[in-house]
Amino acid sequence: MKMAIGLVLAGSFGIVLVQVFSVLFFDRLYERGPLVETIQPVSCADFIQGRSTKSVVLRVDDVQAWAWRDITIRMVDDAYERGIPLTLGVIPKGLGEDTQLIEYLQAHACHLEIAQHGYDHSNSRGDTGGEFEFLTEAAAKERIEMGLQEISVVTDEPVTTWIPPLNVQSTGTAAVLTELGFTHISTEGEGVFDYDASTFSYDTNELIATATVLDDCRVTFETSNHCIIMLHPQDFADDMALDSEKYQKYYLNLLDELIVAGYGFTTLNQL
Ligand SMILES: [Zn+2]
Repeated sequence: MKMAIGLVLAGSFGIVLVQVFSVLFFDRLYERGPLVETIQPVSCADFIQGRSTKSVVLRVDDVQAWAWRDITIRMVDDAYERGIPLTLGVIPKGLGEDTQLIEYLQAHACHLEIAQHGYDHSNSRGDTGGEFEFLTEAAAKERIEMGLQEISVVTDEPVTTWIPPLNVQSTGTAAVLTELGFTHISTEGEGVFDYDASTFSYDTNELIATATVLDDCRVTFETSNHCIIMLHPQDFADDMALDSEKYQKYYLNLLDELIVAGYGFTTLNQL
């Protein structure tokens, strides 16, 4: 009997405790307001930007809605903390659906150039061929314009850098770029804005050592005042998730070594 009374008392005490904690918990939630914080714009007032005699451009391709978004955001954050601007090669299709990415890119606008990287990055011939590799002038124009329309949800700035998927494009594509306002075309080859180094080799399917990337830039600087490095968020992923080891070794280490080398940093549209 005594035990039964004890259990009832303990049970009642427990209910009271739960009620007290519930009130405290919901009060705190209420005080804190919405759980999702608004992203505040960052300032680039302390950045040392602009062209120098040896400027590095970090061209991050395949920035897109949803896929590897958290890695993209982390790459931009870590570049920002080091005072480094980035050129983002954005795949336009469906961009407007990823409001978190859009808000983030807008908040970081002061150190980002939004470049156009195709429309949907699809293969043009079965499972091969760059999206713009075989397009006629008219087809390329239509597709690029669709992309520009989608990118307009992120920025009001004119988009002046064009990066064709797989770095290849048809002569028809090349013919319409000036008319569409592009001044900086970055592809595969020996053109003035073509990429000079990369963090990943698509020939061997392997990440490229930071020392090799630095060597490629050092050689480039012998004849040029800029070195364009191509990167992709998925270079630092294991499937869809961040691979912390790769990220540290091939991205953060690269940023820090470029700083140690004394290079300036800029975006493609500033060259
Ligand atoms: Zn790409």
